[in-house]
Amino acid sequence: MPNSAPSPSPLDFDGLRPPSPFLTEAHVQWRSRVRDFVTREIEPNLACWETEGTFPDSVYEVAAQLGLLGVGFPTQYGGNTEDADPWYRVIFAEEMHRPGCGVVFADLATHWIGLPPVVQFGSAELQEKVTRQVLAGKRRIAFAVTEPGGGSDASALQTRAERHEDHWLLNGSKTLISGALRADVILTAVRTGGPGASGISLLLVDATSPGIERRAVPGLRWYNANNGTIEFRDVRVPLDRLVGAENRGFAGLARQFNVERLSGIAATLAMSRTAVAEAIAWAQQREAFGRRLVEHQALRHKLVDLVRAIRATYAYLDQCIWRLQRGEAVVADIAMLKVQATRTLERCARESMHVLGGHAYAGTTRVERIYREARIFALGGGTEEILDDLAARQLGLL
Ligand SMILES: Cc1cc2nc3c(=O)[nH]c(=O)nc-3n(C[C@H](O)[C@H](O)[C@H](O)COP(=O)(O)OP(=O)(O)OC[C@H]3O[C@@H](n4cnc5c(N)ncnc54)[C@H](O)[C@@H]3O)c2cc1C
Repeated sequence: MPNSAPSPSPLDFDGLRPPSPFLTEAHVQWRSRVRDFVTREIEPNLACWETEGTFPDSVYEVAAQLGLLGVGFPTQYGGNTEDADPWYRVIFAEEMHRPGCGVVFADLATHWIGLPPVVQFGSAELQEKVTRQVLAGKRRIAFAVTEPGGGSDASALQTRAERHEDHWLLNGSKTLISGALRADVILTAVRTGGPGASGISLLLVDATSPGIERRAVPGLRWYNANNGTIEFRDVRVPLDRLVGAENRGFAGLARQFNVERLSGIAATLAMSRTAVAEAIAWAQQREAFGRRLVEHQALRHKLVDLVRAIRATYAYLDQCIWRLQRGEAVVADIAMLKVQATRTLERCARESMHVLGGHAYAGTTRVERIYREARIFALGGGTEEILDDLAARQLGLL
């Protein structure tokens, strides 16, 4: 692992992460805590969960008991590392994706994007009923922005909440929402004002309220067990479930997207390392035309190219987090880095599949699942065009 004992191999999962001057002994210990959880609770069950199309709710509680869900949240509500720096979540996301699968993380960490506005603006009652319960793994929260009419342009969302005397009346629909089907509460971006970004608010909606219908999104394979479409038909939401100021919800969305991007970057780099480590191990022992694959120049150059891409992207990540911790605005760089990281993953997944040949489909490789999931990371937190445009604006190109 970086910054502790050197990895036995510079070409395994740990060795492929270049050493970082910013990782401390405390980070190393956190990494081994998360890795123990993943090794014990997740890895042995992945094949079975994939067949069943879901994983048990108890995983949330186990993660909470080990102090993993509360990272970055206030101690007073059951968080455990209030002053945790961004590395803690990066490391959590990396370790969760080491087995080459993003689904468990997608559900287990939805509170990273759904909960912060509740912590910041929610009443004392909500902190007890929601924040504390979610951090204890007893309740689950989803964050719903995307609609059937589109996700990239969040400022155009149409789900509407009308203010009545003692409630909001909510109508509309959301789709592709991670963790939607097992969520107890849904932080929902709604239109409470006029068109555009200045008419959007955040409502915390009880998922079992009358008028809510939830269903799986067909075709997402095992994502569909918990990822879903949510219909709101005349749903009454108490007035005090408005989270933050009315019509000021868009700024909150933008902050949450940055959190999502950073964890997406960590996830894609970890998946890249897993895929490339597997491809290298295979190329070092598989023979073709009387020589090991690595002895064929074209293949070993391909592998070097992938290692180079991973190292360069990590150098950019290290620099971004260093600047973030210095209080610099790194919105443009995180947007550009997210695009670079997802492209790195797509390349690593494709080329690692190539190196494994038919063996990739043998049912025992991680590479095949990584290849299947890679594209999804290019959507969450903003697609390439959206992020490049964001970077262009932030850089002052326009
Ligand atoms: C597994 C999974 C989990 C998800 N989880 C959540 C969740 O928890 N909560 C949530 O709210 N959403 C979630 N999403 C939805 C995700 O955020 C959206 O898919 C994403 O924002 C893109 O929106 P869209 O799919 O509607 O594509 P669209 O907005 O329809 O875009 C389609 C294509 O057009 C391009 N495009 C759009 N506008 C422009 C432009 N101005 N210039 C150039 N190109 C453009 C896009 O880049 C994209 O390539 C999830 C999606 C998946 C697949």
